Amino acid sequence: MYRKMLALFLAAVMTALWAVPAAAAEGMTLTADCCETEVDGKIRLSWTAPGADYVKVRMVKAGKGEMAEPDARKRPVSKKDFAVTMREEGVFTIVAEAYRGDRVFSSRSVRVTVSSGLERVLSQGMDNIWKIRVIICRSVRLPGYQRSFTQAQVNHIRNLLSLLPGTLFNLSDGRMCAVVTDVTELTEPVTSVSGDCGDLVPEKDFPLSQTLTDDTTLLAVYAPLENHPKTDWLGLGGYTHTYRGQTFYMAEFSSAFAAPESGRWERNGIRYDLGTCALVHEILHAVELNSRNNGWGGFEMLHDAGPNGYDDQKAFMDWYGDLMTDRLKNGKAGFRAVSFYVKHDPGMRARAGNP
Ligand SMILES: [Zn+2]
Repeated sequence: MYRKMLALFLAAVMTALWAVPAAAAEGMTLTADCCETEVDGKIRLSWTAPGADYVKVRMVKAGKGEMAEPDARKRPVSKKDFAVTMREEGVFTIVAEAYRGDRVFSSRSVRVTVSSGLERVLSQGMDNIWKIRVIICRSVRLPGYQRSFTQAQVNHIRNLLSLLPGTLFNLSDGRMCAVVTDVTELTEPVTSVSGDCGDLVPEKDFPLSQTLTDDTTLLAVYAPLENHPKTDWLGLGGYTHTYRGQTFYMAEFSSAFAAPESGRWERNGIRYDLGTCALVHEILHAVELNSRNNGWGGFEMLHDAGPNGYDDQKAFMDWYGDLMTDRLKNGKAGFRAVSFYVKHDPGMRARAGNP
């Protein structure tokens, strides 16, 4: 009995020793460069599958099952730096299977956790409350061009601003909160337009000192500049300005949006004035920039309403709302919750931007 066991033991050891080189020859490896990322982050895989004909890579989401990406194409048996883009939050298992013929003979897997990025921005002290400050330059006196807002126009602008927080909250399904912290009317006329885009530059073209608190997220400026030869814009947005170490987003509006014009723009049974469309539009340019600063740049561009099937001008508010809630009709990506989070720590906001 004892001898028999010894013989079996020796046989097992011999088999193991003999099997080692063969197993090594067929030993599949799979490594990932990391096991945690944020939505739209990439996981880089490397594998070797000696003795295989090809490798397939699959991805399974915990609680959901097989994912479309990566697909089940035949991959080489040895691969370095195969990037997989993680498009959703969740816990995923990425499986590499080595095939010989049409049979799997070896597989390896890695587990990856994908987060939304919200925890990160929260840990940085960000929130989704935009503090919006407004300056209304009541008159412009430029060479050969003199315009002033009427009291009715100023009243209309103030009315639009009073509706703005509710509008942004509704359109975004609560993702974006805004507070209009102050509306300042400047009576001293604007006498210069210094910006390259015919925009008004704070401090150069109108004073700032009295009108800004430390945690302004966005400064909106209204001026009666419609039809001025240097200012061929109706609204501007998506850029920043830095004042005394504090960087904030900016938006500017000409008098084109100072007269009531309603009835054409509607979403969920709510009608919006043209001036509100303009406010939302320019603020969303700031959201685009802010979203990139927060790590999410994969959204459809604000100006691409048409290519995304929102052709009609009447659909503008639907486009804005669908973009803000990430529910585009064609299934493409809009903003994410993280897009709306802003810092209230003045010097930290990003400075670069596109007009
Ligand atoms: Zn625009």
